[in-house]
Formats: sequence, C-alpha cells, structure tokens
Amino acid sequence: MAEKTIFKRIIDGEIPATVVYQDDHCLAFRDVAPQAPTHVLIIPKREIAALADLTDDDEVLAGHMLLVACKLAQDLGLSGGYRVVVNCGPDAGQSVDHLHFHLLGGRPMKWPPG
Ligand code: AMP
Repeated sequence: MAEKTIFKRIIDGEIPATVVYQDDHCLAFRDVAPQAPTHVLIIPKREIAALADLTDDDEVLAGHMLLVACKLAQDLGLSGGYRVVVNCGPDAGQSVDHLHFHLLGGRPMKWPPG
C-alpha cells in the first residue's frame, strides 16, 4: 500500500496542525513554513493527488475549496488582497502529493512568481 502523505496524516489526526477551518469536504490549516504573514493550506479531505487529477465529478468540490479560500481570506482579515496558488506537478514545485490551495496574504506580492 502506498505510504500516506503528510496531509493525509493531518486529516487522520496522526500529526498536529493548526487548523483554521474544516467542514465535511475540506480542511484548512497554517503552513508550517509560511511564505507570507498569513499562509494557509486548503485541502480536500478526500485523497486527490494534484490539481491535474480533478475530474468533472469534482466540479462542486473544486468550487467549494475556492469559496472556502475567499471566506477564509475575509475571516483572516486579508482586506488588502491575497493570492491563491496551486502548484501542480514537479515543474511547479509541488512537494506534497495531496491537492492543496495555498492562501497567502498580509504583505505586498510581486508578479511573476519565481
Ligand atoms: P507545495 O510545495 O505546493 O507542494 O506545498 C506544500 C506545502 O506544505 C509547503 O508550503 C510546506 O511548507 C507545507 N507543509 C509541509 N508539511 C507541512 C505540515 N506538516 N504542516 C503544515 N504545512 C506543511
């Protein structure tokens, strides 16, 4: 059996995380190595390896995760703006094979990203 990802272990309560939101479908917690004053990861509770693995059946879930990001940005006081990032695959630097949306804010950001 494939080894659990670190995010699956957080979902299963095997390792701690600073959870800021959860519902039946997704979990949001603070990134352990924040790249901005606010850096939260939003993940589906169901195991989906990457953005590229979403199917038509996941349309509602994907929309829900984006709406959770928007609501969290509001709740966390990111009134000056924020960025939602999904790294998909090795070229994008995805390091955990469980889909996650990064919600980053609390400082001005540059474009293009590195
Ligand atoms: P990515 O590089 O897009 O795959 O993002 C993975 C993110 O997971 C990185 O920003 C890491 O800092 C973060 N991360 C890894 N392990 C943990 C953990 N145990 N708790 C919270 N965030 C983590």
